[in-house]
Parts: sequence; C-alpha cells; structure tokens
Amino acid sequence: MKAKYLKVDNNFDFCSLKNIGSEIKNGKLVVFPTETVYGIGTNGLEATFCSKIYEAKGRNPNNPLILHISSLDMLKDISNNISTLERKLIDRFFPGPFTIILNKSDIVPNMVTANLDTVAVRMPKNLIAKKLIDYAGVPIAAPSANVSGKPSGTNIEDIITELGDKVDYIIDDGFCDIGLESTVVRVINDVCIILRPGKITKEDLLLVTNNVELDKHVFEKCVKNEKVLSPGMKYKHYAPNTKCMLVYSSNTNNMINKINEIIANTPNSLVISTSENKHFYDCKNILDIGSRYDLNEVSKNMFSILRKVDAFKVDLVIIEGVPKTGLGLAIMNRLLRTCEYNYVEC
Ligand code: AMP
Ligand code: MG
Repeated sequence: MKAKYLKVDNNFDFCSLKNIGSEIKNGKLVVFPTETVYGIGTNGLEATFCSKIYEAKGRNPNNPLILHISSLDMLKDISNNISTLERKLIDRFFPGPFTIILNKSDIVPNMVTANLDTVAVRMPKNLIAKKLIDYAGVPIAAPSANVSGKPSGTNIEDIITELGDKVDYIIDDGFCDIGLESTVVRVINDVCIILRPGKITKEDLLLVTNNVELDKHVFEKCVKNEKVLSPGMKYKHYAPNTKCMLVYSSNTNNMINKINEIIANTPNSLVISTSENKHFYDCKNILDIGSRYDLNEVSKNMFSILRKVDAFKVDLVIIEGVPKTGLGLAIMNRLLRTCEYNYVEC
C-alpha cells in the first residue's frame, strides 16, 4: 500500500495530525474518519487538488463534493446570503451528520460544485475530523471513501483494499459511529427539502420548521436526463456486483413467508436478515445486519455487510426491509439503491 497509515488510539500523536493538516493544504489525499462514514479529502479551495479525488474514486465529474468545515468563520468564507431558516438549521445541527446546500461564494472552485452555483457544507463532530480541518486551515472537500458506485467506506480494512494505493494517508479511527452518510437538505422558498435522508431525521427537522418535504427521488428512480436537485441521485450507488432484492412488509410473518418463497425459487441465495428473524429462513447463507429494534445498529453495520456479499458467489441477495420512519427512512433509501429499485412490498 502506498498510503501512510495512522491508528487513532490512546497514545495518538496530534503533532502527526498537524503535519497531515499541512499536507492536505498542499494537495495530499487523505482518508479520515467522521461520525458518518470515512471521507477521502483534500484542500477544498484548490481545483487541481480536488480533481484528484474524482480520479481516485472514479467519480463522475458532474457529482459535486461536500466541503467540510470546522468553524462558522469558514462557513462565512464559502457561502453567500444565508437565509433565516438556513441559519436556524445550521445553529441546530452543526456540528453533526447534517449537510446543507447553500449559495456558494467565489472562492469555491467549480470543480467542487460541478459548476453549480451552490455548495454542500457540513461540520463533522468527530474530533479527528475537526482537528484535521483546523490544522489544514481550509475547508476539506471530501466524498465518502469508496470507489464510486460501491457501498460507502465504514470499515478500515475495506478502505485499505479499495483506496490504499490511491491516497497519501489513511487515518484509522475504528468503525464509524453512524455508518450512514449525512442527511442532505436544501432550503427553497422557506421549505426544507430532504435530498438525502440520514441520521438527522425528518422528525428532527420538524423541530426547527413545519415546512419539511422529502424530495421524490429519495424513493423514486430518476428517469434519463431528468433534472434533479442533487446530482448524486442519478448515479448507481451502494451496489455489490451480485443481484440484490429488497423485501418488506409491515407484517413480519408475511415478509418472512415471501422471502422463503423467493429462496425456494432461487436456492443459491443469501439473506441479509435482522437478528430476530434469521432462524426463520430456509437458507444456508445468512448475514445478520443487527436488531430490527435498534436501527442505529443496522445503519452502523449496513455498508460493511453489503461488502461481504460478493464473496458468497450466490445468484441473489435478499434483503429484509425496515419501516420507513425515523432512521429507517435513510436505511431504506440506501437499500433501494443497493437493489437498483428491485423491491417487493407485500
Ligand atoms: P458523498 O459522495 O457521499 O459525499 O455525497 C455527497 C452528496 O451531496 C451527493 O449526493 C452530491 O450529489 C450531493 N451534493 C453535493 N453538492 C451539492 C450541491 N451543490 N447541490 C446538490 N447536491 C449536492
Ligand atoms: Mg458517496
């Protein structure tokens, strides 16, 4: 592996982080932890450095990057004309798993925003991420640490395999706390539109404003050339190579029966099951994604479990769904895309 590897532990040396901060400013590529998923980042104010992120990930150049900041001073530099509602959302949810789309200032390169006049901004809570941005002294442009199209990087072994030769540093802070990417919102005409659901739920946003809407593409596939509010909605994401199918019913028995029916028709399959149901499937390949009654656990495990499925060499992966409320909305949004909208509700 080309990258220098650093492990965050009790003896972690913050001087080395300071050094990586200056290296980032000078254009090095760094995999670093956040509370959502790992990011692959560099100086977000330099177009030529940011182009290396697209190259390392194989990311479509029309899919813009999030700028990660560590202070409201940085926010002032990169955004313009923040509205009252945007300000309220920032005050409530920064730092945390929350990204807001704002009007961009001139210092933000078009390479970061894919030529849009808006910029996505997040202030991570993870201490290493915060210090790294502080030490860099500039916003860090960072998408999730994975090759484009694949599940986001939440587990360092997966990231080393995929990106170890493409970046300069990898900072290992263990498993990500949340495991799902940030909630992304945009305010239009005083309505807070959820472009990507996440740990900050619709219910959380409703505590700040009554006007919260879910963009229709959170659950609907984009049709070709359709104009969307967030370019990331258009691209394949979170998908293993094996074909996947998502099955859900609000009646758990119906869901289990349906999945067993599918297994009977496709015997060489694998079920991604919640802990409570795994003994009910007539299938030799089962992966446990966590308890149905603890969606934090499911979201934390989800991407690392999805990365395991190709090794089973099965014809079909059948995934149990969860209710689309609270964090379940974000989980179902990612799983639908994993399955490329191959979904049965019964
Ligand atoms: P990630 O690749 O996980 O960092 O995801 C970033 C998401 O934010 C992608 O879905 C992007 O399309 C979206 N995004 C970034 N910048 C903007 C923007 N200016 N307007 C709308 N969506 C954006
Ligand atoms: Mg991503």
